[in-house]
Amino acid sequence: MEQGDSLKRRFQRKLERMRRIIPMQDFIFEELFECKRVFLLQLRVPVHTGDTQHLQAFIAHHCSAYHSGEDPRKGGLRKAVALDQESIEGLAMDMTEKVGVMDIPLGGGKAGIRLKVDFVYTRDDHARMNKAFVVEADKVRAIGPRIYSTASDFGTSEADCDDIMKEYIALHEAELGSKRGVATGKSVENFGHPARKNATGRGGLIVARKVLSLLGVKNAGMSVAIEGFGNVGRPTFELAENEEYNFKPVAVSDVNGGIYNSHGLDVRRVIAYYEAHKTFTGYREADVITSDEILHLPCDVLIPAAIQNRLTEKTAGRVLAKYVVELANGPTTEEGERILLDKGIVVIPDVVANAGGVVMSWQELNMNKEHDRHAVELRDEEGSANRKLEKIMHHNTEQVVSISKKEGLTLRDAASYLAFSRLIPRLREKQRLYL
Ligand code: NAD
Repeated sequence: MEQGDSLKRRFQRKLERMRRIIPMQDFIFEELFECKRVFLLQLRVPVHTGDTQHLQAFIAHHCSAYHSGEDPRKGGLRKAVALDQESIEGLAMDMTEKVGVMDIPLGGGKAGIRLKVDFVYTRDDHARMNKAFVVEADKVRAIGPRIYSTASDFGTSEADCDDIMKEYIALHEAELGSKRGVATGKSVENFGHPARKNATGRGGLIVARKVLSLLGVKNAGMSVAIEGFGNVGRPTFELAENEEYNFKPVAVSDVNGGIYNSHGLDVRRVIAYYEAHKTFTGYREADVITSDEILHLPCDVLIPAAIQNRLTEKTAGRVLAKYVVELANGPTTEEGERILLDKGIVVIPDVVANAGGVVMSWQELNMNKEHDRHAVELRDEEGSANRKLEKIMHHNTEQVVSISKKEGLTLRDAASYLAFSRLIPRLREKQRLYL
């Protein structure tokens, strides 16, 4: 289903590369090489047309280097037409690496529901789909706040996460303990963390700025083009020109195309226009571009924040940006990256750049384990959670850049080196406890 190379194979090749530079016993290599468990579920979903659809869902539990029994595997729920078991496994594997890079005590997991082609689902259809997903996943113990905790991803939003939490609580009403952590990225009214909504975009900007400063580059006023205007792309666009990040958004797009103005876009006006029209088409103060043209604009920073396999052997050669910040998962293929690196373009890899989401999800999980917060308390917590996010991301970005310089590795391999160096001793310890 994935076009070209799969994320799973890419992860496995990365692991093979790491095995040559980090001592790794066979059992650890094998534990990381495949998912621990993969569930295939058939969801029966009545839809608004009066039909009932049978939709396939997948939940992959990759590795958990932590063994307290308290910490779930973590990764979002994706809903898309182009999705299969292998793609969900690959995304779960990347989650393991991501929590290793950020040193967050969680495991790697991911879920996906394959949608029907050319069918427009209503909000009620999604609510029924979410219910079926939780019921079926719960029957096989594939989901739960200490098993696999989901979140929003491509094709899902706060509303989906709210549904999942409510359904899970309804199924487990009689049990003690908080069940809210079965999903993060919930709305604040449903025990979500107020800082989670923007966290992936904010984290990407924090990392981009940090990398640039470590490379001795001043980023003030640097132009950015952002592909994607969903959970990740939109907050990135909204926050980019804030004083703390100081970028200048010049282009933005969604699946249907986008807009470009080399002098900079008026962020508020663009957002207001998109809210009113649900498209960029017709926005007058910028040139119209196609969803492919955004990749090849003259700008300093390109931020792919939509889908995977966008910068490939076919497209990478025409990239004009000097920096690529991967906010989507897997937007650059291996061949694409080689071309970018040969052109001297710096690629900040997904497992670092988009890890803000899981770092904040971890804060939401922790919050859900504790007492309920008053709205006033939550507002205070937004600031402190963002400061914590920045601290964690700064610290680990510094480590990645330092490893890259010291070991002569690409930023992607340096991130893997950091992650596996942390995960391997934990896995060794875990194995010892099992014996
Ligand atoms: P989303 O569904 O909210 O938004 C996706 C955006 O991409 C939309 O604007 C859509 O129009 C656009 N798009 C879809 N197909 C496209 C195409 N062919 N060409 C150009 N644009 C296209 O999804 P999201 O949650 O923002 O996720 C985007 C990416 O970021 C995914 O790869 C996801 O796995 C990754 N990611 C998401 C999070 C998160 O917190 N949601 C965290 C880490 C990584």
